[in-house]
Parts: sequence; C-alpha cells; structure tokens
Amino acid sequence: MKSAAQIAREVQSGATSASVELEASLAAVRARNEELNVFLHVDEEGARAAASRIDDRVARGETVGPLAGVPIAIKDNLCQAGIPTTCSSRILEGWRPPYNATVIDRLVEAGAVPVGKTNLDEFAMGSSTENSAFGPTRNPLDITRVPGGSSGGSAAAVAADMTPIALGSDTGGSIRQPAALCGLVGVKPSYGLVSRYGLIAFASSLDQIGPLSKTVLDSAILLEVIAGHDPMDSTSLPEPSPSLVAHVDDGVAGKRVALVRELVEGADPDVVASVERATVALKDAGATIIELSIPEFRLGLSAYYLIAPAEASSNLARFDGVRYGLRVDADDVTAMMEATRTAGFGAEVKRRIMLGTYALSAGYFDAYYGQALKVRTQMIDAFHRAYQQADLLIGATAPSVAFEFGAKTSNPMAMYLSDVFTIPTNLAGEAAVSVPFGTGEAGLPIGVQLLGPGRSEAQLLAAARVLEIADGRP
Ligand code: GLN
Repeated sequence: MKSAAQIAREVQSGATSASVELEASLAAVRARNEELNVFLHVDEEGARAAASRIDDRVARGETVGPLAGVPIAIKDNLCQAGIPTTCSSRILEGWRPPYNATVIDRLVEAGAVPVGKTNLDEFAMGSSTENSAFGPTRNPLDITRVPGGSSGGSAAAVAADMTPIALGSDTGGSIRQPAALCGLVGVKPSYGLVSRYGLIAFASSLDQIGPLSKTVLDSAILLEVIAGHDPMDSTSLPEPSPSLVAHVDDGVAGKRVALVRELVEGADPDVVASVERATVALKDAGATIIELSIPEFRLGLSAYYLIAPAEASSNLARFDGVRYGLRVDADDVTAMMEATRTAGFGAEVKRRIMLGTYALSAGYFDAYYGQALKVRTQMIDAFHRAYQQADLLIGATAPSVAFEFGAKTSNPMAMYLSDVFTIPTNLAGEAAVSVPFGTGEAGLPIGVQLLGPGRSEAQLLAAARVLEIADGRP
C-alpha cells in the first residue's frame, strides 16, 4: 500500500483522488476484516462523503492539507460525533458521542479520511487485544498470534494495509508494544503534546494519543497534525505543534545514545540482539554510545499497577447505567448500577477497578498509592539524571515477538510484564518511539525503542529514521 505521504502528494496533484484511495482501503477492509477482527465499525458513508469533499476542494484548486485523502483507522476509545464508540466494552453499547475528539477535528482539517473504529483491549487495559468484549484481533503477519495491545486493532489495520496510518493511545505502552509486534512505527508523545479531549480516559495522568504507521515520515506527518495546544484539555502544553517532518532526516551525528541495561533485561535473546545491532547502526551514523544502568526502571511496573488502576477506578465510576450506554434495570438505583456494572465490564476491567479502589481506600492510601507516587518522582529524577549523560536512550520495546493467543491470558502478571520496558516513559510523561529493526522467532518483527526527554519527538523520529534506513527501508 502507498504511504500516507505519497497518497497526500498524489491527491493534491490530481494523480489520484481521495475517493479512489478510500475505495482501495475499503476493499482491503472487506477482504480481511472478518478474519482479523480489526474494525468494530466501518463508517463507509461518512468516509465517502469526506473523500468527495476533498476531491471537490482539489478540483477547485485549494490546498487541502498534509493528509489530503489519506484513509486513517481510529482506536475505538476516541470520540467521533455520531459514530458508535465502545472502548470494546459492553457498558458503552449503543452510545454515540455527541462531539469529536480534538484529534478527529484536526485530522479532518488536514484532509484525512477516518475509515472506522478499531478494536482494543476493553478500556485500553491489556497488551494483546484479547480483553475486547468483541473478540480478539489477529496479527495480520501470523494469525495464530496476537497483534499486541491495547491498540491492537489500529496496529493490525496498518499491518494489513487497510489504512496507511492509525491513531492509538498509550498509557503504559499501548501504541509502542503493538507497533513492535506488528512491525510498525509507533510514537508515545510527551505528556500534554497531544490533546486528550475526547479520548475516553483510562489513567488521565498517563494517557497520550499517538500515531502508528509503516514509515517514520508518516508518523511525523500524523503527529504534527494532531499535536499542539488545545484549550479543551487543561493538561495540554501551551505551545503550537512542533516541527517534526522538517527534521526527519536530521540523523544522529554527534548525539549521545545510552543503551540502558534495564531496557533489555529479561528480553528474549533475538530481541536483545536487535537492540545491540540498532546501537551499532546509530554509532555508524555518527552517534556516541554509552551504557547506563537505571535501576529505578525496575520499579516502574509496580508503581504503574497502582497508579493506573487508581485513576481508572475513579474514571470508570462515570459508567453508572444512567449517563452512557448500557442499563440493566433493577428495583432501585443502587441495584441498577450494580447490575449494569456487573454485566457491562469484563474481568480485567473489574480487576483494575478493585485494585485501584483498594489502593485508594482509607488506611491503604499511603502504603500503596502514596508510595507509588514517590516511586514515580524517583523515576522522573532518574530520567533527568540519564539525560545529563545522553540525548537519547535505547532499549527493547517488548520482551518478545508477537506471542500466541492464550499464552498469557491465564496469568495477569505475565501479561503485565509485556509493558515492562514501555511503562517508565509514561510515568515520567516523556516521549518514546518504537521502530521495527530486524526479525526474530518465526521471522516476526522486533521493535527497538528510543526514549527521549519531553518534547524530544523531532530528535527521536530522526534517530528512528536512521534505524529505518539501516534496516533496509530507505
Ligand atoms: N498493557 C498496559 C495495561 O494493561 C498498558 C495499556 C495501555 O497503554 N493502554 O495497562
């Protein structure tokens, strides 16, 4: 499939049209959606109308935008006015948001054509998309394996050439880990870079929306479109969208890159080998390499599994059978809420609500939630110290290549460990990119993770581009 950059260029020049590109995308969806379970909803009518509006604008000689006529897949925890939005949960069944997420408005302004809503782990809680109430998504590269999660549907849409780009959300790794498992580029932007307005909240202090794509350039284009201040999100950074596309080919000459021991510890040997080869590739491109140990990273998982469930237990209190989606009737209000939440939430979501409620309860607050916040501060300090010695950090994105269905479903701890390398970035509110580099077991892709301080996206994408070229994708 053509890249987003190519489609936008050709639509603008008249070499192709948004409608032609959309029909190609819809045909690809029809061909494999039943097999892979990628889209929960395809908005054919809305997408066709959006595409023909773009074609009309091009015909009138207007300059459309950097995503002119580019079909895009949207994770189903992002609100799109009038379109069913489920978070892959029964509890939102039948709900249609009355408004657009800011990122949707910005996509449309830039000429993109939202095709539909993609499957995820329920409320973005998971690492395999097996927690969806609507069945798992299959990895297009090997249908016996998971696509990763929680943005597994968005990753699969791009990997299966249904759309060249997709939006995901990353609270503890949910963009980078599926990107790694599906052979894609995925970016977790700095906290506050992309507006969270209209993203259904999981853990508000960690959530960020970001791009998934086959190429580094496409992620740069998409991130530039969605980033920048939004008055509708009080945590939005004050400045406009950074310049990313212009810096994609800046390279890494003179940059200091630190290979972090804790970001490869416990990973499969084929993954470690890829990270080491990526480090050599950066060195060959002019970077200086050092090795660092950041022991605080080992505490990330424990802190995350207190902070994220604590915030989730509060955020998910709004699903009460009154305001959104599902209602299971009962004799009184309390019984109705209980019946609705019992029927509406899946097992993992219930586990998180219970963990979070417990961590926040009187008598345990200081021991659990309070302690986790202290670890979070230590993590921020540790990153800060590391960035005095290095411009970027490198490690693995996930401990292994895509795993088989059911491999980790009976053991929540094993599943949680999928994000051991991605979580530190979310806790610190910083930026990271996963870029495919080499292959491992069964020829499946491996993702290498590049981490940088807040607002370092341009530098991270430039380093990812170096690896993309070194891995044979010029
Ligand atoms: N897998 C992690 C979790 O289950 C992260 C999910 C995410 O980033 N949304 O919480």
